[in-house]
Amino acid sequence: MNEKIVRRKKRKKLKKKRFFPKKKSVEDLALQRMEYLFSLAKSVFKEEPNLARSYVEIGLKIGMKARVSVPVYWRRQICRKCKSFLVPGINLRIRLRSGPRSHVTYTCMECGGKKRFHI
Ligand SMILES: [Zn+2]
Repeated sequence: MNEKIVRRKKRKKLKKKRFFPKKKSVEDLALQRMEYLFSLAKSVFKEEPNLARSYVEIGLKIGMKARVSVPVYWRRQICRKCKSFLVPGINLRIRLRSGPRSHVTYTCMECGGKKRFHI
């Protein structure tokens, strides 16, 4: 009996999920690729907005896979709802609100999604 119990315990120990720490290089690669894809989206947007959207989608997917957050600079130029690349004056409206709850509102003109940034 005792031996069986010991064996079971050993098996349990083996079955335990191992924790793999995130590798730095994976994050760096993901960031580089995201950066590249978003800059491509920016350059292509004027001629082919749909292609820009697909680039943004791929970039966001890479970020999710590597669990890397989108850099702040790019976060404000991407619509989280419809994944389109946002350019003010073309498909992005920016409005300011003053007062006690002052903020900036970004409205995507493709899907109507809104983002608010508190100041
Ligand atoms: Zn949108």
